[in-house]
Amino acid sequence: VAEKQTLGFQAEVKQLLQLMIHSLYSNKEIFLRELISNASDAADKLRFEAINNNALFENDGDLKIKVTFDKAARTITISDNGIGMSREEAIEHLGTIAKSGTKEFFSRLSGDQQKDAALIGQFGVGFYSAFIVADRITVDSRRAGLPADQGVRWESGGEGDFSVESIDKASRGTDITLHLREGEDEFLSVWKLKSVIRKYSDHISLSILMQKEEWDEEKKETVVKDEFETVNQASALWSRSKSDITPEQYEEFYKHVSHDFEAPLAYTHNRVEGRSEYTQLLYIPTRAPFDLWDRNKRGGIKLYVKRVFIMDDAEQLMPVYLRFVKGVIDSADLPLNVSREILQESRDVKVIREGSTKRVLGLLEELANNDEQEQKDKYATFWTEFGQVLKEGIGEDQGNKERIAKLLRFASTHNDSDAQTVSFADYIGRMKEGQDKIFYVTADNYAAAKNSPHLEIFRKKGVEVLLLTDRVDEWMLSFLQDVDGKELASVAKGDLDLGKLEDEAEKKQHEETESQYKELVEKMKTALSDKAKDVRVTFRLTDSPACLVADEHELSGNLLRMLKAAGQ
Ligand code: ADP
Ligand code: MG
Repeated sequence: VAEKQTLGFQAEVKQLLQLMIHSLYSNKEIFLRELISNASDAADKLRFEAINNNALFENDGDLKIKVTFDKAARTITISDNGIGMSREEAIEHLGTIAKSGTKEFFSRLSGDQQKDAALIGQFGVGFYSAFIVADRITVDSRRAGLPADQGVRWESGGEGDFSVESIDKASRGTDITLHLREGEDEFLSVWKLKSVIRKYSDHISLSILMQKEEWDEEKKETVVKDEFETVNQASALWSRSKSDITPEQYEEFYKHVSHDFEAPLAYTHNRVEGRSEYTQLLYIPTRAPFDLWDRNKRGGIKLYVKRVFIMDDAEQLMPVYLRFVKGVIDSADLPLNVSREILQESRDVKVIREGSTKRVLGLLEELANNDEQEQKDKYATFWTEFGQVLKEGIGEDQGNKERIAKLLRFASTHNDSDAQTVSFADYIGRMKEGQDKIFYVTADNYAAAKNSPHLEIFRKKGVEVLLLTDRVDEWMLSFLQDVDGKELASVAKGDLDLGKLEDEAEKKQHEETESQYKELVEKMKTALSDKAKDVRVTFRLTDSPACLVADEHELSGNLLRMLKAAGQ
């Protein structure tokens, strides 16, 4: 199909375009960051594909990005000599949204412009953000390896449709030309474009070139020369030394690798030397992505080998329970032609994963144990967004179980709130004289946990109980028998043993009561023989007449309900 085709955007793209143009207008200069970010990704992809096919470079291995403008035509052009796109790829990549969680994202939009702006940012704005400043965009592209006559021109006014036609394009890569909307002429200036590039894209490892501008004494004005100069630092951010990187640069780099719009919550940057040599720059996002619970979701780590991009989402580099971590790992030891299969078996990868896990846990500990309110608030944010995922680590990562347990936070009877803020250390610090166990109750929700009849005796005695209401809790508890030598005990299981919390007089009284009701208990046992395993006199209730308990070694009521709901 060489002729021109007009195609409709996917419904979601149309919706996104509309929303974006309105809600992100105050932030419009980010379009340049997004287009440069894509150009940089395209260069990474070319370098990677060329590892096994050097011909793709077509004798032009000097990968770069050029930003030019034409004042008379009122256009800006961003050119790269990266991987490029075929006609099919242009249709697919610039006409649809392939992200997981797209449906959910659109269902969350409220119509409130400010709220939606934040959501859109989190979703990732990308290529389409160029329509904030442009009322027409022309993309000329040719994929590396295809002949010159298999170029493609994609064009759209950002309304409902776009066109594609085949063109001749001698040079490999992509030229994106923005036809500026009325009133956006401020971008037709070297100074303006340069300052936007320095602000958002300084960390890009390729050279970003712009034409030089010089004062012309005769014309008495600045003129744009044919000569190009590099306007960014053009070295991989993670390979620079920490002291040379500003917090803003760390932040912009995060937005580039994560496609996130918000600043990260925290990051850690280290070069590891010794038996295994690698650099890690890892970030914890401020907000959980829409697809945090998507089983097919891959990790957020980009793998590089000696600055060459190898792959996105290298899930082997991070355990599953830290799948929210974003960033870059650059190994000096792995071979350039490493595949996902090789990664799975590589000992180097195992070492990197263990090292990176420790770094992330260390970063979380720093936030959690910091006395500064700002850091504490950050940990609270982290816990709200990712706490449930971190809990998976208790079962998944035996080696770090104790460290992870210290990072857990719970609601408890100590506070009159469903906020999960109590650590095991807090709990242990408040244990009663003679108390040797950490008591908890599990339930479907906070209200059910808080009002559990099992808590009555504990309230009376002033003993704190942790209120566990997350879906993963039961599963997690099956891997966590004790913390700091203190056994974890459900208030709803077996024969409640309050140990030394019960005094001699109470014990005696209990024995007397038991013998007093012996006959009644026997009658009830017979009457309920097919419904209850056992009937006992209980001292755990103070107000309610009776309650159901699970046997010591049986699944708890809550877990049984969960399994039933799951059809087991
Ligand atoms: P994202 O970068 O998050 O994938 P974008 O909306 O920014 O989303 O870009 C969509 C897709 O379009 C990219 O994933 C890529 O496949 C393609 N693309 C965009 N710009 C370029 C480019 N300069 N060179 C090659 N492909 C590109
Ligand atoms: Mg992008």
